[in-house]
Amino acid sequence: MKIREILSKGEPTLSFEVFPPKTEDKYESVEHAVLEIARLKPAFMSVTYGAGGGTSRYTVDIAATVQAQGVTPLAHLTCVSSTREKVVSVLEELKARGIENVLALRGDIPVGGQVEKDFHYASELIREIRKIGDFCIGAACYPEGHVESVDKAQDIQHLKEKVEAGCDFVTTQMFFDNNILYNYLYRVREAGVTVPVIAGIMPVTNKAQIKRICSMSGTYLPARFKAIVDRFGDNPAAMKQAGIAYAAEQIIDLIANGVNGIHIYSMNKPDVAARIQESLSEILC
Ligand code: FAD
Repeated sequence: MKIREILSKGEPTLSFEVFPPKTEDKYESVEHAVLEIARLKPAFMSVTYGAGGGTSRYTVDIAATVQAQGVTPLAHLTCVSSTREKVVSVLEELKARGIENVLALRGDIPVGGQVEKDFHYASELIREIRKIGDFCIGAACYPEGHVESVDKAQDIQHLKEKVEAGCDFVTTQMFFDNNILYNYLYRVREAGVTVPVIAGIMPVTNKAQIKRICSMSGTYLPARFKAIVDRFGDNPAAMKQAGIAYAAEQIIDLIANGVNGIHIYSMNKPDVAARIQESLSEILC
């Protein structure tokens, strides 16, 4: 099923992100986690794409596994470190396996700046995907601005270019303060972007994760969130419980304010995915 059809029903949806293994020896354990998460029957599951494309086969295989469980898959695809030939071959493979949804991404510029010349931005990839098949296309967006963008206004203009190129929905980078999303939504709608915006939520379940998030994306951490980390960061079980509760509270507020699409960065953790789903059992039905 195409994700735009799922979203068009205008009802709250919960979806999960998983990542494929980096090496063959980890395949089985990742597949096991993916099957556990698929058992929760989310609205869809997205499968990330390794920067550089070296593990693209795993993304396609895991997406096909999701599909085989009767859950709609969304395969991520990055372009900046790939040739057109490579991108086309992955898309042909997705088509052959009946996978209809692609999240079109530029990908991070590798350290050292070595990139291929065929694609510079995600909007170019979206145009390529449109040429190749009848895919439903998603793209990334950044409520706090993309790290490389000059300012938020320009970032939103570039988002608009992705929509004009043919993307059907966008999924946000994680955020921990819903007001940031509400402000962003106001600005993107004002700029004329009308496609559904899916909120990306990260349940933070350990202290190390927070350090990584801050060093990678400079995401704003509200005082309320910092207090939780200060109080429970050294108690793994308590931190996990508090992190899940924080994410669930964020989601309830989002749904109450009309943000229907919720995507969980579930980090291949079936127990976290299940606990989030459980905490919304009466809200999602
Ligand atoms: P783009 O939309 O191309 O934007 C990149 C930068 O270029 C932005 O600053 C934008 O403002 C600017 N820009 C865009 N168009 C132009 C233009 N015409 N002229 C000048 N500047 C322009 N990474 C992975 O490697 N694998 C994944 O699976 C993956 N999944 C992700 C899922 C989500 C939901 C999100 C939010 C991110 C994901 N990423 C993933 C990370 C993503 O690849 C990086 O954030 C990357 O740096 C930007 O990708 P993009 O598609 O947003 O790029």
